[in-house]
Amino acid sequence: MASALNAPGSPAEAALRPLRFEDFTGQAKTVERLRVMVGAARRRGEALNHILLSGPPGLGKTTLAFILGNELGRNVRVTSGPVIEKAGDLAGLLTNLEAGDILFIDEIHRIQKTVEEYLYSAMEDFRLDIMIDQGPNARSVRLSIPRFTLIGATTRSGLLTAPLRSRFTLQTRLDYYDAPTLAGIIRRSCGLLQVELDEGGAHEIAARARGTPRIANNLINFVRDYAQERSDGRITRAVAAAALELLEIDAAGLDEMDKRMLRVIAENYGGGPVGMSTIAVAVGEEAETLEEVHEPFLIQEGYLQRTSQGRIITPKGAQAIGLKSLSSSTQ
Ligand code: ADP
Repeated sequence: MASALNAPGSPAEAALRPLRFEDFTGQAKTVERLRVMVGAARRRGEALNHILLSGPPGLGKTTLAFILGNELGRNVRVTSGPVIEKAGDLAGLLTNLEAGDILFIDEIHRIQKTVEEYLYSAMEDFRLDIMIDQGPNARSVRLSIPRFTLIGATTRSGLLTAPLRSRFTLQTRLDYYDAPTLAGIIRRSCGLLQVELDEGGAHEIAARARGTPRIANNLINFVRDYAQERSDGRITRAVAAAALELLEIDAAGLDEMDKRMLRVIAENYGGGPVGMSTIAVAVGEEAETLEEVHEPFLIQEGYLQRTSQGRIITPKGAQAIGLKSLSSSTQ
């Protein structure tokens, strides 16, 4: 459920996306760093330096790339690591940019090794040496490209190679939002959607949104429907709680998949340690999704620990699935 609720591209997403720094709440350190870089780039009339944004999905990486484009008055071209299959694809993207434009590469950790090497000289020297033809006719052609800004986004910064990472002037991490900040984002979204919401309603949704604005916005959509169908259209604490119970999202934001993971570790493996691929098979979900969507939240909130031998459930995790203590699961 968390992965479905955190899937990009819902109809409301574009309408709710903040366009300027003023509308973007939270992530104070990252925003301040970006504001400094934007100010300096503007003052010197230069392209912004390359930036790497990392952090779990739905926290605002794409949004920030567009905000940077708006603040600088530049175009933003969006692509993603797996889509750029060959050096020629990269050349096509880069040569179509104007000076100062932003190229946003989502999931940059999934870029092909062969393409990645071309990116180094593009980022550093704004040129590409492309091989054309094969065999005896093979020759290298040098393309110069406009001074552009690469904004890379990744959910798995640990998977980036050192040479790629070192070419970003700023590397900054987005963290899960705390509940009061998320409540503010929820109020803003409801304002834009013209949905009536009280404080209790805002806090109830915030508590169950896993610190993630995209999930919060998607929950609002369902809670709004529920409020209209089962109540008078206003989102109150009781309405939000009932709607989210119906989605099987508990008061702490844990969903069925989170609980299944915790149950597998506790009940099948005595609390762990157990490897992620084993957990993935047992719960019937891709290991990658579990690692990118579910695990970071479970670790951050103290339900799960990651050790070199595998995952271990914590006492808080055991409690969340209704076990009094871990030992009760192994007896
Ligand atoms: P990511 O690229 O990190 O997966 P997005 O930038 O696509 O995440 O953000 C997902 C949605 O969440 C956006 O549509 C936007 O409306 C909302 N959002 C993200 N961060 C914020 C924020 N700080 N304030 C308000 N809305 C936000």
